[in-house]
Amino acid sequence: MRAVVIDAVRAQPEVREVAQPSAPAGGVVVKVMATGMCRSDWHAWAGHDDIAFPHVPGHELAGVIAEVGAGVTKWQVGDRVTVPFVCGCGVCEWCRSGQAQVCPDQQQPGFTHWGSFAEYVALHAADTNLIALPAQVEFATAASLGCRFATAYRALVGRARLAAGEWVTVVGAGGVGLSTVMIARALGGRVIAVDRNPEALAAASAAGAEHTLLADASDVPDAVHELTGGGSHVSVDAVGSEQTCADAILSLRRRGRHVQVGLLPPVAGHPRVPMARVIGWELDVLGSHGMAAVDYPEMMRLIEAGDLQPQRLIERVIGLDEAAALLPTLDRATVAGMTMVDPTR
Ligand SMILES: [Zn+2]
Ligand SMILES: [Zn+2]
Repeated sequence: MRAVVIDAVRAQPEVREVAQPSAPAGGVVVKVMATGMCRSDWHAWAGHDDIAFPHVPGHELAGVIAEVGAGVTKWQVGDRVTVPFVCGCGVCEWCRSGQAQVCPDQQQPGFTHWGSFAEYVALHAADTNLIALPAQVEFATAASLGCRFATAYRALVGRARLAAGEWVTVVGAGGVGLSTVMIARALGGRVIAVDRNPEALAAASAAGAEHTLLADASDVPDAVHELTGGGSHVSVDAVGSEQTCADAILSLRRRGRHVQVGLLPPVAGHPRVPMARVIGWELDVLGSHGMAAVDYPEMMRLIEAGDLQPQRLIERVIGLDEAAALLPTLDRATVAGMTMVDPTR
Protein backbone atom coordinates (compact mmCIF):
# COMPACT_ATOMS: atom_id res chain seq x y z
CA MET A 1 0.00 0.00 0.00
CA ARG A 2 1.04 3.65 -0.36
CA ALA A 3 1.80 5.52 2.86
CA VAL A 4 3.49 8.69 4.11
CA VAL A 5 6.64 7.42 5.85
CA ILE A 6 8.85 9.35 8.30
CA ASP A 7 12.28 7.71 8.66
CA ALA A 8 13.62 9.78 11.56
CA VAL A 9 12.76 12.78 13.75
CA ARG A 10 12.32 15.83 11.50
CA ALA A 11 13.24 13.89 8.33
CA GLN A 12 11.32 14.92 5.21
CA PRO A 13 8.31 12.54 5.02
CA GLU A 14 8.00 10.62 1.76
CA VAL A 15 5.31 8.58 0.09
CA ARG A 16 6.28 5.00 -0.70
CA GLU A 17 5.04 1.43 -0.90
CA VAL A 18 4.99 -0.40 2.44
CA ALA A 19 3.44 -3.66 3.65
CA GLN A 20 -0.29 -3.51 4.25
CA PRO A 21 -1.18 -4.12 7.94
CA SER A 22 -3.13 -7.21 8.99
CA ALA A 23 -5.91 -7.18 11.56
CA PRO A 24 -4.72 -7.73 15.15
CA ALA A 25 -6.72 -10.05 17.43
CA GLY A 26 -9.79 -8.08 18.48
CA GLY A 27 -9.05 -5.43 15.89
CA VAL A 28 -9.69 -4.55 12.27
CA VAL A 29 -8.00 -3.10 9.23
CA VAL A 30 -9.77 -0.06 7.78
CA LYS A 31 -9.41 1.17 4.22
CA VAL A 32 -8.84 4.87 4.84
CA MET A 33 -11.23 7.10 2.88
CA ALA A 34 -10.36 10.37 4.66
CA THR A 35 -7.86 11.40 7.31
CA GLY A 36 -7.27 14.76 8.95
CA MET A 37 -3.99 16.66 9.29
CA CYS A 38 -3.55 17.84 12.84
CA ARG A 39 -0.88 19.65 14.78
CA SER A 40 -0.36 16.44 16.79
CA ASP A 41 0.97 14.86 13.59
CA TRP A 42 3.54 17.64 13.47
CA HIS A 43 4.46 17.00 17.14
CA ALA A 44 5.07 13.33 16.27
CA TRP A 45 7.23 14.33 13.29
CA ALA A 46 9.15 16.86 15.45
CA GLY A 47 10.09 14.24 18.05
CA HIS A 48 7.81 15.37 20.90
CA ASP A 49 6.34 11.87 21.30
CA ASP A 50 7.95 8.54 22.03
CA ILE A 51 7.74 7.01 18.57
CA ALA A 52 9.53 4.21 16.75
CA PHE A 53 10.84 5.08 13.28
CA PRO A 54 10.21 4.50 10.43
CA HIS A 55 6.71 5.74 11.18
CA VAL A 56 3.43 6.45 9.42
CA PRO A 57 1.51 9.37 11.04
CA GLY A 58 -2.24 10.07 10.98
CA HIS A 59 -4.81 9.60 13.74
CA GLU A 60 -8.09 11.18 12.58
CA LEU A 61 -9.76 8.90 10.10
CA ALA A 62 -12.85 7.41 8.61
CA GLY A 63 -13.16 4.54 6.19
CA VAL A 64 -14.49 1.09 5.43
CA ILE A 65 -13.58 -2.09 7.29
CA ALA A 66 -11.41 -4.25 4.99
CA GLU A 67 -10.48 -7.09 7.38
CA VAL A 68 -11.80 -8.27 10.75
CA GLY A 69 -9.52 -9.91 13.32
CA ALA A 70 -10.28 -12.88 15.57
CA GLY A 71 -12.72 -12.23 18.40
CA VAL A 72 -14.45 -9.15 16.95
CA THR A 73 -18.22 -9.52 17.39
CA LYS A 74 -19.81 -6.19 16.44
CA TRP A 75 -18.23 -5.39 13.07
CA GLN A 76 -18.04 -6.75 9.55
CA VAL A 77 -16.10 -6.12 6.36
CA GLY A 78 -17.72 -3.21 4.52
CA ASP A 79 -18.94 -1.32 7.60
CA ARG A 80 -18.40 2.47 7.42
CA VAL A 81 -16.64 3.56 10.60
CA THR A 82 -14.62 6.17 12.43
CA VAL A 83 -12.62 5.89 15.64
CA PRO A 84 -11.33 8.13 18.46
CA PHE A 85 -7.58 8.79 18.29
CA VAL A 86 -7.33 7.14 21.73
CA CYS A 87 -8.25 3.48 21.33
CA GLY A 88 -8.84 1.91 24.74
CA CYS A 89 -7.84 -1.68 25.47
CA GLY A 90 -11.47 -2.63 26.11
CA VAL A 91 -10.83 -4.69 29.25
CA CYS A 92 -9.42 -2.40 32.00
CA GLU A 93 -11.53 -0.67 34.67
CA TRP A 94 -11.39 2.66 32.75
CA CYS A 95 -12.61 1.16 29.48
CA ARG A 96 -15.32 -0.83 31.26
CA SER A 97 -16.58 2.37 32.95
CA GLY A 98 -16.79 4.28 29.65
CA GLN A 99 -13.54 6.24 30.05
CA ALA A 100 -11.46 4.66 27.30
CA GLN A 101 -9.93 8.08 26.56
CA VAL A 102 -7.68 7.63 29.62
CA CYS A 103 -7.03 3.89 29.24
CA PRO A 104 -3.57 3.02 30.64
CA ASP A 105 -3.12 0.43 27.86
CA GLN A 106 -4.38 2.65 25.05
CA GLN A 107 -3.30 2.44 21.44
CA GLN A 108 -3.18 5.49 19.19
CA PRO A 109 -2.93 5.09 15.43
CA GLY A 110 -0.20 7.38 14.18
CA PHE A 111 1.60 7.29 17.54
CA THR A 112 1.78 3.82 19.16
CA HIS A 113 1.59 2.15 15.74
CA TRP A 114 1.36 3.16 12.09
CA GLY A 115 -1.43 5.59 11.38
CA SER A 116 -3.83 6.64 8.68
CA PHE A 117 -1.71 8.65 6.21
CA ALA A 118 -1.91 5.44 4.23
CA GLU A 119 -4.34 3.38 2.22
CA TYR A 120 -4.97 1.04 5.17
CA VAL A 121 -4.66 1.29 8.95
CA ALA A 122 -4.92 -1.29 11.75
CA LEU A 123 -7.15 -0.44 14.72
CA HIS A 124 -7.20 -2.27 18.07
CA ALA A 125 -10.10 -3.37 20.31
CA ALA A 126 -12.68 -2.74 17.60
CA ASP A 127 -15.70 -3.65 19.73
CA THR A 128 -14.73 -0.89 22.22
CA ASN A 129 -13.50 1.79 19.86
CA LEU A 130 -15.25 1.80 16.50
CA ILE A 131 -18.17 4.10 15.78
CA ALA A 132 -20.63 3.38 12.97
CA LEU A 133 -21.12 6.24 10.53
CA PRO A 134 -24.72 7.18 9.76
CA ALA A 135 -25.32 6.93 5.99
CA GLN A 136 -25.62 10.68 5.52
CA VAL A 137 -22.35 11.54 7.31
CA GLU A 138 -19.55 11.68 4.74
CA PHE A 139 -16.07 10.24 5.32
CA ALA A 140 -14.36 13.65 5.29
CA THR A 141 -16.85 14.97 7.84
CA ALA A 142 -16.33 11.93 10.05
CA ALA A 143 -12.54 12.03 9.81
CA SER A 144 -12.46 15.39 11.57
CA LEU A 145 -14.26 13.88 14.56
CA GLY A 146 -11.57 11.46 15.73
CA CYS A 147 -9.30 14.03 17.27
CA ARG A 148 -10.08 17.69 16.95
CA PHE A 149 -13.86 17.91 16.79
CA ALA A 150 -14.54 15.24 19.43
CA THR A 151 -11.82 16.66 21.66
CA ALA A 152 -13.41 20.10 21.41
CA TYR A 153 -16.83 18.60 22.13
CA ARG A 154 -15.60 16.76 25.19
CA ALA A 155 -13.61 19.81 26.39
CA LEU A 156 -16.80 21.92 26.47
CA VAL A 157 -19.45 19.33 27.37
CA GLY A 158 -17.67 16.68 29.43
CA ARG A 159 -14.96 18.79 31.07
CA ALA A 160 -15.93 22.50 31.29
CA ARG A 161 -19.68 21.72 31.43
CA LEU A 162 -20.42 24.87 29.46
CA ALA A 163 -23.85 26.39 30.15
CA ALA A 164 -25.88 28.50 27.73
CA GLY A 165 -25.11 32.20 28.06
CA GLU A 166 -21.59 31.71 29.42
CA TRP A 167 -18.58 33.43 27.83
CA VAL A 168 -15.93 31.19 26.27
CA THR A 169 -12.45 32.37 25.26
CA VAL A 170 -10.94 30.14 22.58
CA VAL A 171 -7.23 30.77 22.02
CA GLY A 172 -6.15 29.44 18.64
CA ALA A 173 -8.48 29.22 15.65
CA GLY A 174 -6.99 26.21 13.85
CA GLY A 175 -8.88 22.93 13.51
CA VAL A 176 -9.54 22.27 17.18
CA GLY A 177 -10.11 25.96 17.92
CA LEU A 178 -12.67 26.38 15.13
CA SER A 179 -14.36 23.18 16.28
CA THR A 180 -14.51 24.62 19.80
CA VAL A 181 -16.02 27.87 18.49
CA MET A 182 -18.69 26.02 16.48
CA ILE A 183 -19.64 23.69 19.35
CA ALA A 184 -19.63 26.42 22.00
CA ARG A 185 -21.97 28.52 19.88
CA ALA A 186 -24.28 25.53 19.28
CA LEU A 187 -24.43 25.02 23.06
CA GLY A 188 -25.48 28.64 23.57
CA GLY A 189 -22.08 29.96 24.62
CA ARG A 190 -20.82 33.44 23.71
CA VAL A 191 -17.45 33.05 22.04
CA ILE A 192 -14.35 35.23 21.86
CA ALA A 193 -11.77 33.77 19.45
CA VAL A 194 -8.08 34.70 19.64
CA ASP A 195 -5.45 34.05 16.97
CA ARG A 196 -2.39 35.63 15.35
CA ASN A 197 -3.79 35.07 11.87
CA PRO A 198 -6.56 37.41 10.61
CA GLU A 199 -7.74 34.72 8.15
CA ALA A 200 -8.18 32.25 11.01
CA LEU A 201 -10.18 34.90 12.88
CA ALA A 202 -12.42 35.38 9.84
CA ALA A 203 -13.03 31.61 9.85
CA ALA A 204 -13.79 31.81 13.59
CA SER A 205 -16.39 34.53 12.95
CA ALA A 206 -17.97 32.33 10.29
CA ALA A 207 -18.01 29.43 12.78
CA GLY A 208 -19.88 31.53 15.33
CA ALA A 209 -17.46 33.70 17.31
CA GLU A 210 -19.15 36.86 18.64
CA HIS A 211 -15.83 38.70 18.99
CA THR A 212 -12.35 38.09 17.61
CA LEU A 213 -9.04 39.36 18.98
CA LEU A 214 -5.77 39.54 17.06
CA ALA A 215 -3.25 38.05 19.49
CA ASP A 216 -0.31 40.25 18.56
CA ALA A 217 -2.19 43.52 18.61
CA SER A 218 -3.49 43.63 22.16
CA ASP A 219 -3.23 42.45 25.72
CA VAL A 220 -5.57 39.50 25.26
CA PRO A 221 -6.69 38.98 28.88
CA ASP A 222 -7.37 42.74 29.29
CA ALA A 223 -9.44 42.78 26.12
CA VAL A 224 -11.44 39.73 27.22
CA HIS A 225 -12.11 41.19 30.68
CA GLU A 226 -13.32 44.38 28.98
CA LEU A 227 -15.63 42.55 26.53
CA THR A 228 -17.12 40.23 29.14
CA GLY A 229 -17.33 42.50 32.17
CA GLY A 230 -14.88 40.58 34.33
CA GLY A 231 -13.58 37.68 32.30
CA SER A 232 -14.92 34.61 30.56
CA HIS A 233 -16.46 31.65 32.38
CA VAL A 234 -14.58 29.10 30.30
CA SER A 235 -11.29 29.26 28.42
CA VAL A 236 -9.75 26.78 26.01
CA ASP A 237 -6.12 26.79 24.88
CA ALA A 238 -6.34 25.09 21.51
CA VAL A 239 -2.71 25.84 20.62
CA GLY A 240 -0.48 24.73 23.46
CA SER A 241 2.27 27.24 24.24
CA GLU A 242 3.29 29.12 27.35
CA GLN A 243 1.79 32.31 25.88
CA THR A 244 -1.51 30.85 24.68
CA CYS A 245 -2.06 28.91 27.90
CA ALA A 246 -1.39 32.04 29.98
CA ASP A 247 -3.62 34.20 27.77
CA ALA A 248 -6.46 31.68 28.14
CA ILE A 249 -6.15 31.29 31.91
CA LEU A 250 -5.68 35.01 32.61
CA SER A 251 -8.80 35.76 30.51
CA LEU A 252 -10.99 33.87 32.99
CA ARG A 253 -13.20 35.44 35.63
CA ARG A 254 -12.89 34.30 39.23
CA ARG A 255 -13.78 30.60 39.65
CA GLY A 256 -13.62 30.10 35.87
CA ARG A 257 -12.75 26.81 34.14
CA HIS A 258 -9.81 26.38 31.81
CA VAL A 259 -9.44 23.40 29.50
CA GLN A 260 -5.99 22.65 28.11
CA VAL A 261 -6.39 20.93 24.75
CA GLY A 262 -3.24 21.91 22.84
CA LEU A 263 -0.21 19.83 23.80
CA LEU A 264 1.95 22.01 26.03
CA PRO A 265 5.68 21.45 25.41
CA PRO A 266 7.84 21.79 28.53
CA VAL A 267 9.96 24.82 29.39
CA ALA A 268 13.04 23.61 31.32
CA GLY A 269 11.39 20.30 32.11
CA HIS A 270 7.81 21.41 32.81
CA PRO A 271 5.15 23.46 31.06
CA ARG A 272 4.73 26.87 32.71
CA VAL A 273 1.20 27.76 33.81
CA PRO A 274 0.15 30.90 35.80
CA MET A 275 -0.62 28.98 38.99
CA ALA A 276 -0.74 32.07 41.26
CA ARG A 277 -3.92 33.15 39.43
CA VAL A 278 -5.26 29.59 39.50
CA ILE A 279 -4.95 29.53 43.29
CA GLY A 280 -6.01 33.10 44.09
CA TRP A 281 -9.10 33.06 41.84
CA GLU A 282 -9.97 29.40 42.44
CA LEU A 283 -9.73 28.49 38.77
CA ASP A 284 -10.28 24.93 37.58
CA VAL A 285 -7.57 23.72 35.21
CA LEU A 286 -8.80 20.71 33.27
CA GLY A 287 -7.21 18.40 30.74
CA SER A 288 -9.06 16.89 27.82
CA HIS A 289 -7.82 13.84 25.96
CA GLY A 290 -10.10 13.01 23.07
CA MET A 291 -13.44 11.34 23.64
CA ALA A 292 -14.38 7.71 24.13
CA ALA A 293 -16.51 5.96 21.51
CA VAL A 294 -19.36 5.50 24.02
CA ASP A 295 -19.73 9.30 24.21
CA TYR A 296 -20.08 9.78 20.42
CA PRO A 297 -23.84 9.14 19.94
CA GLU A 298 -24.95 12.49 21.41
CA MET A 299 -22.47 14.40 19.24
CA MET A 300 -23.36 12.29 16.17
CA ARG A 301 -27.05 13.12 16.69
CA LEU A 302 -26.25 16.86 16.61
CA ILE A 303 -24.26 16.33 13.40
CA GLU A 304 -27.04 14.27 11.78
CA ALA A 305 -29.54 16.98 12.74
CA GLY A 306 -27.30 19.67 11.23
CA ASP A 307 -26.88 21.52 14.56
CA LEU A 308 -23.15 20.84 14.27
CA GLN A 309 -21.53 21.00 10.82
CA PRO A 310 -17.87 19.96 11.07
CA GLN A 311 -17.69 19.74 7.27
CA ARG A 312 -17.91 23.56 7.18
CA LEU A 313 -14.46 23.69 8.79
CA ILE A 314 -12.77 21.73 5.98
CA GLU A 315 -10.87 24.15 3.75
CA ARG A 316 -9.05 21.74 1.44
CA VAL A 317 -8.63 18.08 0.55
CA ILE A 318 -5.17 16.90 -0.55
CA GLY A 319 -3.50 13.62 -1.51
CA LEU A 320 -0.73 11.69 0.26
CA ASP A 321 2.07 13.43 -1.71
CA GLU A 322 0.88 16.88 -0.68
CA ALA A 323 0.43 15.66 2.90
CA ALA A 324 4.07 14.51 3.01
CA ALA A 325 5.22 17.92 1.78
CA LEU A 326 2.97 19.88 4.13
CA LEU A 327 3.57 18.02 7.41
CA PRO A 328 6.92 19.63 8.42
CA THR A 329 5.47 23.12 7.90
CA LEU A 330 2.31 22.67 10.00
CA ASP A 331 3.64 24.61 12.99
CA ARG A 332 4.09 27.76 10.88
CA ALA A 333 1.42 27.22 8.26
CA THR A 334 -1.01 30.13 8.29
CA VAL A 335 -3.79 28.33 6.45
CA ALA A 336 -7.28 28.74 7.86
CA GLY A 337 -9.58 25.79 8.48
CA MET A 338 -8.96 22.04 8.39
CA THR A 339 -6.91 20.09 5.87
CA MET A 340 -8.16 16.62 4.95
CA VAL A 341 -6.14 13.94 3.23
CA ASP A 342 -7.75 11.51 0.77
CA PRO A 343 -5.36 8.52 0.44
CA THR A 344 -7.39 7.14 -2.47
CA ARG A 345 -6.32 10.08 -4.66
ZN1 LIG B 1 -8.46 0.09 28.80
ZN1 LIG C 1 -5.21 15.34 16.16
